[in-house]
Amino acid sequence: MSSSLPGLDVTHDPRLRSWVASAGDASGFPLQNLPFGIVAARRGDTGAGEPHGAVRIGDEVLDLRRLAASGLLQGPALAAAEAAGAGTLNAFFELGAGPRRALRAALHGLLVEGAAHQAAVAPFLTPAASVENLLPASIGDYTDFYVGIHHAVNVGAIFRPDNPLLPNYKWVPIGYHGRASSVTVSGTPFRRPNGQLKMPDGGEPVFAPTRRLDFELELGVWLGPSTRLGESVAIDQAEDHVAGLCLLNDWSARDVQAWEYQPLGPFLAKNFATTVSPWVVTPEALAPYRVAMCRPEGDPAPLPYLDSAQHRAAGGIDIELDVLLSTAKMRNAGEAPLLVSRSSTRHMYWSIAQMVTHHTSNGCDLRAGDLLGSGTLSAPGPGGLGSLLEITRGGTEPFGLPNGQTRTFLQDGDEVTLRARARRDGAATIGFGECAAIVQPATHRST
Ligand code: CA
Repeated sequence: MSSSLPGLDVTHDPRLRSWVASAGDASGFPLQNLPFGIVAARRGDTGAGEPHGAVRIGDEVLDLRRLAASGLLQGPALAAAEAAGAGTLNAFFELGAGPRRALRAALHGLLVEGAAHQAAVAPFLTPAASVENLLPASIGDYTDFYVGIHHAVNVGAIFRPDNPLLPNYKWVPIGYHGRASSVTVSGTPFRRPNGQLKMPDGGEPVFAPTRRLDFELELGVWLGPSTRLGESVAIDQAEDHVAGLCLLNDWSARDVQAWEYQPLGPFLAKNFATTVSPWVVTPEALAPYRVAMCRPEGDPAPLPYLDSAQHRAAGGIDIELDVLLSTAKMRNAGEAPLLVSRSSTRHMYWSIAQMVTHHTSNGCDLRAGDLLGSGTLSAPGPGGLGSLLEITRGGTEPFGLPNGQTRTFLQDGDEVTLRARARRDGAATIGFGECAAIVQPATHRST
């Protein structure tokens, strides 16, 4: 049972259930998960209510603002609930692991079957369907990495068949600074971007809607507490600055990318929209799913600042990742979305801790509410590819949908949904909720 696994406490015990009836293992949000987010009541014509922090349990959300005012919490758990009750989770992320763990333990005690305070807590629950999810934090900076080695090899092979993986890949966690302003929460539609496209005929570029709109299956990392400017975070302390995880779709315009990316890397091809799932799944909830961070035989060891015995033993994480596609025609016909890919965070060549340590290795500071993307996480074989660029081999091999439609890249009206779960024998199944958005037509403008 969970109590026999090192580092796990009663909040992981899979035998314990919540008195919230919908919080079974199949919900993805059992008692052992307890992810944090920002919600606002839906009020029809009068608009949304005031944003506030909440915890997801089954099909319900627990209002942390009201819980903090209830007198049911004390000490660090109360401080954490007060911080998390605000309109963003930035102050909560700044508090770090101690108060977050205290609040998790207190929430577990209030929501477990047989809890003494069930009658007092029940009024703070609202159906998840009656609230709107908002971005969990005000994002100061967003950095996107490239830690999915199979994606790096697959994409490299399209452009450089003889030399797919560049020589720096196994030494340095590659990343670029993305754009925080265009990160939106799941369910927010976005427009197909216009951009400069270079046609294959070799003529002059045109300014037009992208013809090669793609998704990227990524893990998102919410950061906090902040680090100091000039401070480098050691590998064994790196996860002290991780507030939680989410799913992230780095929408990409491949034709814009191909024309603009040299010599400085991605710019407008990737900053028009990034979608994240609304619930921040905590490191505590994911503790049972840690795995070794092993490199294949013959690969170089990471440089010492990116390596430690503790990190090798448990620096990895095992989360199953899905991509689903649904076209407007499929939704109109009531057809289920098609699973186009199933991958895993096991395919990260660089870990979350290595991303944090490398990012601060030059003294660059990270602030609470900053967001990291992992980069596209493709599995090695077909069926596990995390972008259409890979699935259709650069747009050369269209694939068919059950209703007879075909796709190379995304069409207007297409909806891409990312889902994820962590599961293993002897532990509860932890879900992430959905990271979904629908492609809207471009705004047409003259060139
Ligand atoms: Ca990316």
